[in-house]
Amino acid sequence: MAIIITDECINCGACEPECPNTAIYEGADDWRYKDGTSLEGNVVLTNGREVNADEAQEPISDEVYYIVPDKCTECKGFHEEPQCAAVCPVDCCVPDEDHVETEDELLAKQRFMHPDG
Ligand code: SF4
Ligand code: SF4
Repeated sequence: MAIIITDECINCGACEPECPNTAIYEGADDWRYKDGTSLEGNVVLTNGREVNADEAQEPISDEVYYIVPDKCTECKGFHEEPQCAAVCPVDCCVPDEDHVETEDELLAKQRFMHPDG
């Protein structure tokens, strides 16, 4: 499943540079599928949704750092454990029960975003 940042976040910014998928953004910042991935133009996600990777998307939180569920692979394919949770000083990066995925699904997402490894 994806990881979610709770409203306990103190906006320290420690997690953002640790994410291998660039799935973490500062509150109120736009996000894009193409940021930190190989995606560009119109793409069909592994969940079947069609998106434009270059288009700016609305922030998920205006108050605190947030994680884009479509881009979070729980660090599968890169690291043994979620790097955001590992560095967060207030332990507010927790499993997102609304975005439950299998390990195979997470690895497929990772390969889709980073086909060149
Ligand atoms: S678990 Fe990994 S991929 Fe997901 S947001 Fe945290 S650092 Fe990024
Ligand atoms: S490391 Fe934790 S407290 Fe700091 S910005 Fe990330 S989620 Fe918020």
